[in-house]
Amino acid sequence: PAQTPLLSVRDLNAYYGQSHVLHGINLHVNPGEVVSLIGRNGAGKTTTLKSIMGVHRQRTGTVTFAGQDVTRLPSNRVAARGLAWVPEERAILSSLTVRENLELPPTRPGGWTSERAYEAFPVLRERGHHPGSKLSGGEQQMLAIVRVLRSAPKLLLLDEPSEGLAPVIVQHIGRIIEDLRREGLAVLLVEQNLKFATRLADRHYVFVDGEIVDEVRREDVDARDADLLRYLSV
Ligand code: ATP
Repeated sequence: PAQTPLLSVRDLNAYYGQSHVLHGINLHVNPGEVVSLIGRNGAGKTTTLKSIMGVHRQRTGTVTFAGQDVTRLPSNRVAARGLAWVPEERAILSSLTVRENLELPPTRPGGWTSERAYEAFPVLRERGHHPGSKLSGGEQQMLAIVRVLRSAPKLLLLDEPSEGLAPVIVQHIGRIIEDLRREGLAVLLVEQNLKFATRLADRHYVFVDGEIVDEVRREDVDARDADLLRYLSV
């Protein structure tokens, strides 16, 4: 029998008012697995992450995490169970310095210390006294990731971590995600950058118009390359 998934989403439907945007989403993430959600703008990937976190609440279906139904929990209690979400807009506090942003979230046992954050991304040490608002997009993304790692999550939800970043920064963030995976952290990644997603993920779910229409495993990516490009082309 297959192992018990860390996260499982069953028959998720989501709405914004009268508009029905997710149609029966079923997906899972196994412990230690890196999974991507790919698809065009507006296909429903961000809404899926928000529905998992309980931030978007106009939804039906079930979200199970670490063996427990978390569907009805408020998002702060979902987070406390070990789910960490880095939103697309990288929610860092723009009036606080980098150091303050880093030190504000409490550290849990096994979570990243500031020292570990500075080792992973030395630029954050150099920018320690800069306000969040003065950071580049890449520095904001790094800071947003290390902040949530302080709580020692079991699953990291990343919404388009490569978006708008220089290739060298994308490479660096990719290496950190690979390190995290080696340490056993599971990752669910929303991406439009196919190269980045296929480098990192063990499995890809393809979103089209609020539905999952395909699932591609790492070993099949080369053979399915043309299909994947077609799903993402506008
Ligand atoms: P993106 O990469 O642009 O975030 P996505 O695949 O994550 O795309 P969603 O953001 O989940 O897609 O959007 C899914 C659908 O829901 C789209 O049709 C979008 O227009 C709609 N939508 C998203 N947010 C809202 C909102 N706050 N109010 C109404 N409709 C929304």
